Amino acid sequence: MIVVGSVNADLVVRVDRRPAPGETVIGSDLVTHPGGKGANQAVAAARLGARVALLGRIGSDGNGEFLRKALAGDGVGLDHLVETPGPSGVALITVGADGDNSIIVSPGVNARLSEEDIAAAAGLLASARVVSLQLESPLATVLAAARTAARVVFNLSPPAVVPDELLAVCDPLVVNEHEAAVLLGRRGAPGPQARALLALGPRSVVLTLGAGGAVVAGPDGVTEVPSPRVEAVDTTGAGDAFTGALAWRLAGGEDLAAATAFAVRVGAASVRRPGAQSSYPYPEDLEAL
Ligand code: ATP
Repeated sequence: MIVVGSVNADLVVRVDRRPAPGETVIGSDLVTHPGGKGANQAVAAARLGARVALLGRIGSDGNGEFLRKALAGDGVGLDHLVETPGPSGVALITVGADGDNSIIVSPGVNARLSEEDIAAAAGLLASARVVSLQLESPLATVLAAARTAARVVFNLSPPAVVPDELLAVCDPLVVNEHEAAVLLGRRGAPGPQARALLALGPRSVVLTLGAGGAVVAGPDGVTEVPSPRVEAVDTTGAGDAFTGALAWRLAGGEDLAAATAFAVRVGAASVRRPGAQSSYPYPEDLEAL
């Protein structure tokens, strides 16, 4: 499988409560983790045993070297990870007492991932069973990758209006409840929301529900997939762990409901430890779930 997407340094501080505008609060020591939606998905899949390549860009700063080493250490294919003059992507993350996170992303050179990068990897993209995409890269680049791919897994995150052409090739479109509400312009129960997302044009939909697991919608109807119960320490990157695992199982030929049942276990395992990639499980970590 191939992941096309962002590579970020996650700068994480834990806080008892978040500051109101104009207010300062004292947080924990700063910890820097490798992150970015694209890199996270690739690492999640690689840890589980996938052969996965990442198309992306890292900056010429210290973070770029840190990020490349982390990806290489997890065995992610990096022939199409391009070092670019400029700052690497950064995510400023606060983790609250409840384990929930708030994130500001500074794209850096992720914003320079281009249609030319996709053209340069066209053969690789066309030969992959699954290409996994997200929206921390320019929309034109994501669209170009989707046009080349045999099967697209698209995590529409952060949420944005995208062309019908892109939605039409998603199999599945993957969103969380917040993203679903933005896309549909309303909140609602998971089943109806998943059906409404399917009516936007994708071939299939996976709506993730945090501790509630996920709902799958496709031509055969709607299936609820519960998540194992775990104690959530830090949910950062849970959606990326979920989607990386899902894409890998789909690339292996599994059907969407079965791949989702596997992915909720991976997502649940990831919230038990702090950080994004640092929390991602190896196969043996899933045995207890
Ligand atoms: P994030 O933005 O935190 O990376 P997300 O909002 O994109 O995640 P979620 O729906 O919160 O996505 O979580 C994705 C998957 O991770 C869920 O479907 C579930 O499998 C798992 N997960 C997330 N939070 C929990 C939790 N508290 N307990 C168990 N599993 C969880």
